[in-house]
Amino acid sequence: MRLLLIGAPGAGKGTQAERIAQRFGLVHISSGDLLREHVARGTELGQTASEYMNKGDLVPDELVLTMLREPVIAAAEAGGYVLDGFPRNVGQAMEAYDIAKPLGVAVQVAVYLEVARESLIDRIVERGKTSGRADDTREVVEHRIAVYEESTWPLLDYYREREQLLQVDGDLPVDEVTDSVLAQLERVRATL
Ligand code: ADP
Repeated sequence: MRLLLIGAPGAGKGTQAERIAQRFGLVHISSGDLLREHVARGTELGQTASEYMNKGDLVPDELVLTMLREPVIAAAEAGGYVLDGFPRNVGQAMEAYDIAKPLGVAVQVAVYLEVARESLIDRIVERGKTSGRADDTREVVEHRIAVYEESTWPLLDYYREREQLLQVDGDLPVDEVTDSVLAQLERVRATL
């Protein structure tokens, strides 16, 4: 199974992606984690990316696509993937489709984790106390949410039109979110 998660910063994508991957034997690929690894290793890609990440802006599409290409293909061959944090805009989704489709590794299902705006900022500012992430401060979080609403929201229509969108209430307690998403994915898997 090949799927991706869409949700605002702080919506809980990482937690749910991990659990989905575990249940279905998929590889969890987080674009944010991979970018932070590049930053930590001081690669050229990481040096460029960090300037955008620290401000809460999207890293240029080409960088992210280059970074994800091999891990995504490898994961698809290993049984499937859960993408978390990618795509972030319709352009990324379209480019990824053009690359992945001929290889037979295009995404099958998009899961939308819907969380009320009010919950997000508190969750992330709380996480910022221990995450050590430069972008988990109130000012940067507000900007990240604005970027999400402007660039990432249109993806919901993109996948809805393709009848690939599942929706989950991300404001529920974390285990209930997991139960709901796993149940929906079980049903979808039977139709793939
Ligand atoms: P969150 O979802 O909590 O904002 P992530 O770890 O997914 O956190 O992303 C952190 C930062 O990494 C983003 O603000 C952005 O700068 C960069 N990033 C992650 N994924 C992408 C992507 N697909 N395209 C562009 N930038 C990205």
